Amino acid sequence: MLITMNQAEPFAQEAVSSDPKIIWKECLKVIKENVPFITYNTWFLPIKPLYLENLTLKIQVPNNFFIEWIDEHYNTLINKTIRQIIGAEAKLAYVISEENEIPEIELGKEAPEKPEPVIKNVPETEQKPPFESYLNNRYTFDNFIKGEGNQLARAAAIAIGDNPGETSFNPLFIYGGVGLGKTHLIQAIGNKILSNFPHKRVIYLSSDIFTVEFVEAIQSNKVNEFSNFYKSMDALIIDDIQFLINKEKTQDLFFHIFNTLHQSGKQIILSSDKPPKDLKGLNERLISRFQWGLTADVQPPDFETRIAILKKKSENYGISLSPEILEYIAINITSNIRELEGCLIKLLANASLSSKEINIELAKKTVREIATDRKVNISIEYITKIVCETLNVEEDKLRDKNRKKEVVQARMIAMYLSKKLTKSSLKTIGLHFGGRDHSTVIHAFTSMEQLMDEDQTLKETVDSIKNKIEMSVS
Ligand code: ADP
Ligand code: MG
Repeated sequence: MLITMNQAEPFAQEAVSSDPKIIWKECLKVIKENVPFITYNTWFLPIKPLYLENLTLKIQVPNNFFIEWIDEHYNTLINKTIRQIIGAEAKLAYVISEENEIPEIELGKEAPEKPEPVIKNVPETEQKPPFESYLNNRYTFDNFIKGEGNQLARAAAIAIGDNPGETSFNPLFIYGGVGLGKTHLIQAIGNKILSNFPHKRVIYLSSDIFTVEFVEAIQSNKVNEFSNFYKSMDALIIDDIQFLINKEKTQDLFFHIFNTLHQSGKQIILSSDKPPKDLKGLNERLISRFQWGLTADVQPPDFETRIAILKKKSENYGISLSPEILEYIAINITSNIRELEGCLIKLLANASLSSKEINIELAKKTVREIATDRKVNISIEYITKIVCETLNVEEDKLRDKNRKKEVVQARMIAMYLSKKLTKSSLKTIGLHFGGRDHSTVIHAFTSMEQLMDEDQTLKETVDSIKNKIEMSVS
């Protein structure tokens, strides 16, 4: 960034006297010219000048993040600025006030009682405040199997792990269906960054946790703290960004966090169930930013990759499966890697429960059970809950006679998905929706199929609800 120091009039040292507010105001003028608007507002405006003592200007910042962030990004600018304003010998010291209760200092007067909190000089950058990165160390690149379906995403992920913020893959946006390794990959990046650069600040979370935290921050009046915390990261990893759909306030805040991080060369990594352009209900400006870096998909594994995954995972469990068994499973379980893993675990469990050898018969039995499990795990109640949450309709309304358009639609979608995702009979499904007749359920099902054929947006809504349901039970 270009530092243009001559924009503010140099302040004659006599004129400054000991008035910290005036000095700081002059500093801010220079800083404002040299940093992006959001950076200025977020990081510099909240600073309060405290006092000037022996050519050291003490400024109060809300917390440690500020010191680190400013220090790391604008150390040179801020030091040059105060030297320009105060004089060649000038120094800066930060004072952190946890309670933000440092008394106001009157113009021109000596500070009455000086607060005694932590004082840090500018060059120090140690003492990172601890925080949980939420990374699971089981997700690494070592145990991520390369296949045609994940080649590009994996290569980009590895590059970022070694050079966060320094590749053109910023943000990295990985999308694809359930159980294809998105979470694994993006967490592997985080783990790799931390192993390469232990002092970097990396955090992983899913976008619905982000939303919940944001709502809590609003309730407890801590939105600034919340947003500054995420803005202080070197790498921000957000999983399942599709859950921000229709959450406008959260999207707005995320937009600002995204900008601050991106502008300062910090790494952003996102995952989603669909590509950016298909995220209807997400602000256009976010969608366009998501496409600034690299968008890479993960596809279901092909046969060879499925075999490789089964081999590697069974070896991890200390067993070796015969080619016949490997092939049988790889032919029959095709949808995703989570299910392949599930099948393997179930096979092991079946073998140890019945103290049987793992043979092809047991493999066949296990594969059959998986197909049944898929349906048993999902309940009509759960489907109803997710449909209502997504479409913002009260659950009770689905059970009464409400004929409002959005309720009717939610009810139809819930019935359709109940038929599609559970093994319940039409009669049982009808009972769950206020004792409706089985023919009503059939009608809902066939109409939905037809409507989804004609209406792409509806189809996408239903698909995304279906994904969400399947994701949480697999
Ligand atoms: P997604 O986030 O796309 O739904 P996950 O990352 O949760 O999928 O992957 C599901 C499971 O499959 C995880 O246990 C993960 O470790 C495993 N997995 C996915 N892809 C691979 C891969 N290429 N190699 C090894 N394990 C994988
Ligand atoms: Mg995931």
